[in-house]
Amino acid sequence: MEGHPERILVLGAGIGGVSTVAALRRMGYQGELWLVDEGDQPYDRPPLSKDYLAGRRGRAEIALQAADWFDAQDVRLFRGVRAIGLRPEAGQVQLADGQVLTADRIVLATGGRARRLPIPGGDGEHVHVLRTAEDADRLRTDLGPGRRLLVIGAGLIGAEVASTALDLGCVVTVIDPLPVPLVAALGPELATWLHDEHTRRGIEVITGTVTSLAQDTAGTGVTAGTGGTGGTAGTPGAGTVLAALSGEAQPRPFDVVVLGVGMVADTELAQSAGLLVDGGVLVDERQVTSHPRVLAVGDVARTRADGIPQRATEHWEAAQRGADRAAATLLGSAAPTQGAPWFWTDRHHLHVECVGHMDEAETRVVRGSFGEGPAAVFGLAGGRLVAVAAVDDAMAIKAGRRLIDRKTLVDPSVLADPHTELRGLLRA
Ligand SMILES: Cc1cc2nc3c(=O)[nH]c(=O)nc-3n(C[C@H](O)[C@H](O)[C@H](O)COP(=O)(O)OP(=O)(O)OC[C@H]3O[C@@H](n4cnc5c(N)ncnc54)[C@H](O)[C@@H]3O)c2cc1C
Repeated sequence: MEGHPERILVLGAGIGGVSTVAALRRMGYQGELWLVDEGDQPYDRPPLSKDYLAGRRGRAEIALQAADWFDAQDVRLFRGVRAIGLRPEAGQVQLADGQVLTADRIVLATGGRARRLPIPGGDGEHVHVLRTAEDADRLRTDLGPGRRLLVIGAGLIGAEVASTALDLGCVVTVIDPLPVPLVAALGPELATWLHDEHTRRGIEVITGTVTSLAQDTAGTGVTAGTGGTGGTAGTPGAGTVLAALSGEAQPRPFDVVVLGVGMVADTELAQSAGLLVDGGVLVDERQVTSHPRVLAVGDVARTRADGIPQRATEHWEAAQRGADRAAATLLGSAAPTQGAPWFWTDRHHLHVECVGHMDEAETRVVRGSFGEGPAAVFGLAGGRLVAVAAVDDAMAIKAGRRLIDRKTLVDPSVLADPHTELRGLLRA
């Protein structure tokens, strides 16, 4: 990209957008920086299904930056206004309040929205999704002791919501079509153990699908089904949602339903501007879209390498890394070296992390025993480590990450031995 742009406009102030402006300033960019978001104070999303939903952290505590940070960084923040039009050739973005902003380069960091289910009643009352703080606020008011919660989808967010709701005293049922979700990401050993943890903690786990949701206007749902343990459970008639589950003759009553069925990238602006889109705004390895003036980062972007869209990486660190790459591209600097991807998730007071690509492993070895202190599963291919997934084992992740990045040859039996000091392998 020739010369330094005089003004850069970033759309979306999630971790992707905020990290982009932060990286630009950190890398010495002195031009104008504008950041537009439809929300108020930019905040972080991972706590929404964890501490924020549990009520342990409030809005101020999940802010991505202190309120005065944007001024201090000389970033002009346009808050509470949605971008509704994009004209890449003219470098223009149209805002819903009528303003038209012009910039030399535009970065799309608009993330995505929670996927809804195309089933009858999928958007009814007491049927929630979780993507924004407002979603979390609404959901929290619907949870409480004895409330019967159905979580549809047992992936990362569904499992976190189920765990938080259990802590809040809800009677929780989780349903997923897969007998064990997250196998590709974590490997079957850890994925199975984690999924079974729901049952061990008192959550009902069902393998199946929900074919419809309906408001129980007749009040029939109060007497049937899973029942509650007191509190507000079983409020007659109004508010009960009847869920038809595959393989069950009678629908079951729930007070609350959460859809944890993934996200849909927010590609409308890009699409209307004629940019290439395929399950996300397509970008090259430097985050540039099909128009050289427009870049995209975070959940909205999907990398295409050698003409092939790569797997979606809808994780927090991936958004940050994309932001660093975009900033380097905008400033004409070399792309930063970034190494193996990483994500974390928390459920049932267990901290789970994964680095690398577990689905590329030809063999796996487990170190330790899940549920008995720190434990990890190592994925290997061609004698080298390609992934580590761990429970409460930050050390295994840290050392594993470096072993993956250095492509070190490793002996599986040495890895499996809990007495091996993993850091020592880095010196080999
Ligand atoms: C509940 C939840 C829990 C999660 N937990 C984890 C976790 O434990 N670990 C992990 O690695 N990842 C986790 N993630 C994923 C991680 O939070 C996302 O990958 C990350 O937020 C993506 O950042 P982003 O900036 O691309 O998008 P977003 O965070 O979605 O930010 C996009 C921003 O753009 C704004 N916007 C969109 N369209 C417009 C428009 N037209 N005009 C103006 N503004 C617009 C949106 O309002 C939003 O503020 C979680 C996500 C959720 C929802």
